[in-house]
Amino acid sequence: MSTAVHTIEEAQERVLELRRLIEYHNRMYYVLDQPEITDAEYDALFRELVELETEYPELVTPDSPTQRVGGPPSDAFAKVTHRVPMLSLNNAFERDQVREFDRRVRRTLGEVEIEYVTELKIDGLAMSLLYEDGRYAVGATRGDGYVGEDVTANVKTIPSVPLSVTVPAEFPSTFEVRGEVYMPKRSFQRLNAELAGQGKPLFANPRNAAAGAVRQLDPRITASRRLDTFIYALDPPGSARTQAQILSLLGEMGFHVNPIFRTQTSIDGVLEFLDEWQDKRHELDYETDGVVIKVNDLGQQAELGFVSRSPRWALAFKFPPEQAETVVSEIKVYVGRTGAITPVAWLEPVVVGGTTVSRATLHNEDEVARKDVRGGDHVIIQRAGDVIPEVVRVISDKRPGTSRPWHMPQNCPECHTPLVREPGEAVTRCINPLCPAQVREHLRHFVGRSAMNIEGFGYATLDQLITRGLVKDPADLYHLTRDQLLTLEGFADRSAQNLLERIEASKSATLARFLFALGIRHVGDHMAGILAEHFGSIDRLQSAGVEELQSVGGVGPTVAAGVHEYFQRPESRRLIDRLLEAGVTIKAPDRRSGPLAGKSFVITGTLKTMTRGQAEERIKELGGIPGSNVSKKTDYLVVGEEPGSKLEKAQRLKVAILDEPAFLALIR
Ligand code: NAD
Repeated sequence: MSTAVHTIEEAQERVLELRRLIEYHNRMYYVLDQPEITDAEYDALFRELVELETEYPELVTPDSPTQRVGGPPSDAFAKVTHRVPMLSLNNAFERDQVREFDRRVRRTLGEVEIEYVTELKIDGLAMSLLYEDGRYAVGATRGDGYVGEDVTANVKTIPSVPLSVTVPAEFPSTFEVRGEVYMPKRSFQRLNAELAGQGKPLFANPRNAAAGAVRQLDPRITASRRLDTFIYALDPPGSARTQAQILSLLGEMGFHVNPIFRTQTSIDGVLEFLDEWQDKRHELDYETDGVVIKVNDLGQQAELGFVSRSPRWALAFKFPPEQAETVVSEIKVYVGRTGAITPVAWLEPVVVGGTTVSRATLHNEDEVARKDVRGGDHVIIQRAGDVIPEVVRVISDKRPGTSRPWHMPQNCPECHTPLVREPGEAVTRCINPLCPAQVREHLRHFVGRSAMNIEGFGYATLDQLITRGLVKDPADLYHLTRDQLLTLEGFADRSAQNLLERIEASKSATLARFLFALGIRHVGDHMAGILAEHFGSIDRLQSAGVEELQSVGGVGPTVAAGVHEYFQRPESRRLIDRLLEAGVTIKAPDRRSGPLAGKSFVITGTLKTMTRGQAEERIKELGGIPGSNVSKKTDYLVVGEEPGSKLEKAQRLKVAILDEPAFLALIR
């Protein structure tokens, strides 16, 4: 720490060490998308370096990380030189620093009225999008601020990036917008769950997952990761005179603009906005790590100008980290609905982001081994919004000498059946279908919000129902009587009546919800939606063969086999019949309203999973326009086997090229 530094020699030594550390972590974060330390820890190193360089200006060198932005662009991509450098922002961690920023701005601008715009700081990947003649032409990462990576084709697969925009009158034909590409929390959770299932390393946070998805050599991967964008900068700004006007103009042009921004006439308003969103941000479906405060007037911005790596007219206030240190008291395993065994760290309770956390998931056996988490370890845990808390890493210096590596138990902790881990699978399972833990989890899933949505069946209630033999499977829930409920602990007239009403209300379900509620392996809510939309009724789905299932866009061999197998089992059919007899009715699915609205597609070559006619039909269903000739106006070329000359033409015209899996990901 800088307080320990007394002489310039000592300062120099520490500066060099900090630069080395920061360079190393920059590489892990910007180039490899796999940070090893938390952002708060990184920020602390960076702040220490800034403090030392401020105290000893003679130690500042042009190559210091404090003078530069980001990391070098990777050689794996073509390079794009930014027309105007893409800078970083000055950071503030305390409210006093925000007031100091206001004072600095006022000192430079003098006695004038100053407005600020407060925007959420989106924890994504900074992106520049260049438009030519109103059409998307180049997408580039920030890179080192001067030269970024050409990710044009990848970014084109992000649905909220308009491929052509409504350009206001008298607007230059070439313009650039900047913003963030981000991964919604739900997509992030799903991605990490998939990676955990495949035994692959997980992404530390949605920001790194988004960066990983954009910085892919293969646009199909980007397409499958469900990214989104928020755009906040426009150059040139056209008729806009303020940042707030830029935001509305961007919205009118068809860009995705975050609606949560406010114009502030005083710094107190700015501080209120910080307080408000520090709490409310957990309600959002994306990560925000702070608030960006910008001088609203573009003329005043120009007057304030820039310092080496950031504008003087903006400040990023960072919310305090939602990470904390605690001790793992024990690692226990938890049996899920499908029998999957998840190791969970039981923690000494610690407050993270306003909530007390006493458990954190460790995902699977390999993940415990990779992080080498042991009972007694001091660990950093993190909580991101409603994401389940997880262990980030072990503080190895604090490990007690007596600790031993953790191993998966041999038997199920609930029913004592020997556990099984199939070769090549990351997941260990209890294969006893009557395991009480699985029955309970299955019921929890069935009543869950995205399934039949019956509020009021917590674990305590379900456990009582199971041990008393009142409920063995979901259909039994529909036969519960008032008298039976009244025998349970915690139930009185009113609560029993409420629960019965909620059970009754759940009887009318969409096909997608019903399918999801059944808990078929590999059928999450998204897949349930795809199946519901394609088959339209449970009867049609039940009688579909593996081949027919696999012909559905987005359904791969594993899902097809899992679904088929499920409906072949007599007990599945019996459960469905009993649910229908109990009065559950299934509503036919609503057709989606055009997620591909206005986008044009050309197909070349032979597709494996569908005929060209079927593909075109599907494109139309989703609002897209199938065509036969590739031109500059084509948004996507879908390439099957033995493609024709259209492929070469599309490459020349920089049309986004989708192979079959990428196309399937887009139309599912
Ligand atoms: P930054 O994250 O502190 O802020 C600048 C960026 O904010 C801008 O470039 C822009 O892309 C983004 N931004 C988001 N919303 C915005 C909005 N509404 N308006 C304007 N800009 C907006 O700075 P940085 O240079 O991008 O990254 C540095 C940060 O990255 C560090 O503070 C640290 O948190 C993290 N980092 C972590 C590690 C690690 O190892 N954990 C390593 C390197 C960097």
